[in-house]
Amino acid sequence: MELDRYAVVGNPIAHSRSPEIHAQFAQQTKQLLRYERLLAPFDGFAETIAEFSRQGGKGLNVTVPFKLEAYTLATSLTARAETAGAVNTLFWRDDQLWGDNTDGAGLVTDLNHNAGVTIADRRILLLGAGGAARGVMLPLLQMRPAQLTVANRTSSKAIDLAQLFSSHGKVAASEYEQLQGRFDIVINATSASLGHDLPPVPETVFSEGTFAYDMMYGGKQTVFMEFAAKHGAAIRDGLGMLIEQAAESFFLWRGIRPDTGPVHAALRRQLIQSAEQA
Ligand code: NDP
Repeated sequence: MELDRYAVVGNPIAHSRSPEIHAQFAQQTKQLLRYERLLAPFDGFAETIAEFSRQGGKGLNVTVPFKLEAYTLATSLTARAETAGAVNTLFWRDDQLWGDNTDGAGLVTDLNHNAGVTIADRRILLLGAGGAARGVMLPLLQMRPAQLTVANRTSSKAIDLAQLFSSHGKVAASEYEQLQGRFDIVINATSASLGHDLPPVPETVFSEGTFAYDMMYGGKQTVFMEFAAKHGAAIRDGLGMLIEQAAESFFLWRGIRPDTGPVHAALRRQLIQSAEQA
């Protein structure tokens, strides 16, 4: 029997954990499907998607650097993809190529449901103004925080982001060095951790009672997590966000919600093992 085909597309793609995550979801929910890695040439994203469709592909996750191209390519967009301006999930339905963005839902579920962190009425600081930051703005604002402050190295991008979402809640932009007072939740949506860097965030934003979240994940704490912990914050990395956004995509494709807990535990073990062997 021909299995339904799904894939994660990006460039590079060899590092992606999505095939392991979706294989575990499929096994757990008894869904018969195949999920693979798809390397698209930098100038050949649309052709790669068209070929995957010709071969009977049903849906895709989209990762760096194609989330904006996927947004343009989709013929129908969900409201959250439209506001995010980026697409991380594609699927064909009713002769349309649908684009959705599940990153923000993934973050909010991980924070709220898995980590037990309340977002409503809290002061939130979001570091970064790239694709990931943009994708989480609306889902965070829908949880009604007291204030959402965006800080970015290129401050004009933080100002643009704050303006874009100003009708959805209390949003402000700030320079890093002008950040005032402590925050309840600090989310690192910069890619600084990829290069073992720390965004220039003042230590005064953290205190005991602050929850610091790095979207980056791995077998070890990031420099951001170490810095936040040193200044009293509770910390968490972005593995849960990765798994929850995948679960949301799986639900869109298959209509069934996997149990993410065991997948999280298994992947954490693998990441720690890989870090110890490195
Ligand atoms: P982008 O390239 O779109 O944006 C990068 C952002 O990081 C920009 O705001 C940039 O600032 C800022 N930045 C980069 N380096 C530094 C630095 N050294 N100091 C301060 N700011 C810096 O990346 P994405 O938004 O797509 O991804 C951001 C991070 O989120 C990545 O680490 C990615 O792995 C992670 N991510 C995790 C997900 C998950 O499921 N866990 C999902 C999606 C993303 P400037 O504008 O000034 O260049």
